[in-house]
Amino acid sequence: MADDTIFAKIIRREIPTDILYQDELVTAFRDIHPQAPTHILIVTNRTIATTNDVQPEDELALGRLFTVAAKLAKEMGIDESGYRLIVNCNRDAGQEVPHLHMHLLGGRRLGPLVARPG
Ligand code: AMP
Repeated sequence: MADDTIFAKIIRREIPTDILYQDELVTAFRDIHPQAPTHILIVTNRTIATTNDVQPEDELALGRLFTVAAKLAKEMGIDESGYRLIVNCNRDAGQEVPHLHMHLLGGRRLGPLVARPG
């Protein structure tokens, strides 16, 4: 089933997860392998595989990712110190889960925007 990503199961609350925010368009929860003191994923409730698959009717949900990111950044106390929002697409970006999501990272200096290949 195309909609059956790990994130879809979290959204449907079939996998116990501490949901930080949920509305009719997006859901937010902590990343299971945090890369910074604050590392939250904000995902569209509709399963959109990648940014290549976004449709005009997704624009409200995609905008909501940003308003929820700003709200959570404030709640986490990193709005003034700063944070980074990342959306990966496909192999070269290292996208692991084919369900569109925004990473909210902060709580430390995050370093260069793009890592050099190892
Ligand atoms: P990406 O590489 O952009 O696809 O990011 C996928 C992220 O999902 C990674 O940072 C994973 O650590 C995270 N992740 C995978 N499974 C779970 C899960 N069950 N709960 C929370 N985060 C997860």
